[in-house]
Amino acid sequence: MIIVLRPDATEKQIEHIIERVKKLGLKPMVSKGVERTIIGVIGEEDIIRIQPLEVYPGVEKVMPILKPYKLVSRDFKQEDTIVDVGGGVKIGGKKIVVMAGPCSVENETLLVKIAKTVKESGAVVLRGGAFKPRTSPYAFQGLGEEGLKFLKEAKKITGLPIVTEIMDVRDMSLIEKYADIIQIGARNMQNFNLLKEAGQSKKPVLLKRGMSATIKELLMSAEYILSEGNFNVILCERGIRTFEEHTRFTLDISAIPVIKQLSHLPVVVDPSHATGKWGLVAPCSKAAIAAGADGLIIEVHPNPEEALSDGAQSLLPEKFAELMKEISKVAKAVGREL
Ligand code: PEP
Ligand code: MN
Repeated sequence: MIIVLRPDATEKQIEHIIERVKKLGLKPMVSKGVERTIIGVIGEEDIIRIQPLEVYPGVEKVMPILKPYKLVSRDFKQEDTIVDVGGGVKIGGKKIVVMAGPCSVENETLLVKIAKTVKESGAVVLRGGAFKPRTSPYAFQGLGEEGLKFLKEAKKITGLPIVTEIMDVRDMSLIEKYADIIQIGARNMQNFNLLKEAGQSKKPVLLKRGMSATIKELLMSAEYILSEGNFNVILCERGIRTFEEHTRFTLDISAIPVIKQLSHLPVVVDPSHATGKWGLVAPCSKAAIAAGADGLIIEVHPNPEEALSDGAQSLLPEKFAELMKEISKVAKAVGREL
């Protein structure tokens, strides 16, 4: 249920409605738009339905949200959400945001070197996993907190905000200490306890689409985070499982405009994990920007052959630099900028 307030509703009237909603044992979520304020009411539908909320002063109309996700929907908030991730970087506005870095944090020298080169090419966020969700228990699992410390050092030197993955709900306070954006990976998209914990965090969350998840399921997962109070969520299309074997996953380009229609949250694309092949990263990046993505998250490594994870899909720094120039042209063509 959403309560749409009149454009001239006063703060006092808004406060009064919020208090009434709370008294009914329901949860009010306020969205202050440019034109008007909307109050999303979360709770038992039956209680909501029998309340004459229309009669309160300042209320224009009360509408049910029929979709299973509410706070993430465009019905609740018409304007695009712009997520401020710190360091002057905002995701969801006119500017395309490129996040880049190694798949895994391997050592400090290498990480700092990569951070400097991607920054020179125009990346504004540094990616790097310290806790790695690997298919095999025998594969490199990440450096853990040591890796987070290297990320902090790379941030100190370059000024780039950090995006890094959380795998375990018990690591939340540790990751929060180092990360500017908390990444929830494809394999944890439906780890509901982790989503709820991320919803209580003050840090922005990058939520990746599960490899076998529908767009609706992705939005429902985001709803978990917003319903706990954290509205700073960035969605990520990173490829889904199909019958196609040529690529690691199948990049669902149409997910970008679909999500944009359904939700106000920003959408970024990960062409590295989607394709699994470095030679496909550039064309898919350009397609993503042309289709309306707000940003990209790309794996870069100066020595892919020796990378401890995902070398085959990692771009050499010089290839990344070339790609950034091409993305800039596509961005301009669709009314955006890099
Ligand atoms: C990653 O970005 O490091 C990663 C593991 O991606 P995904 O969760 O999309 O597989
Ligand atoms: Mn990877």
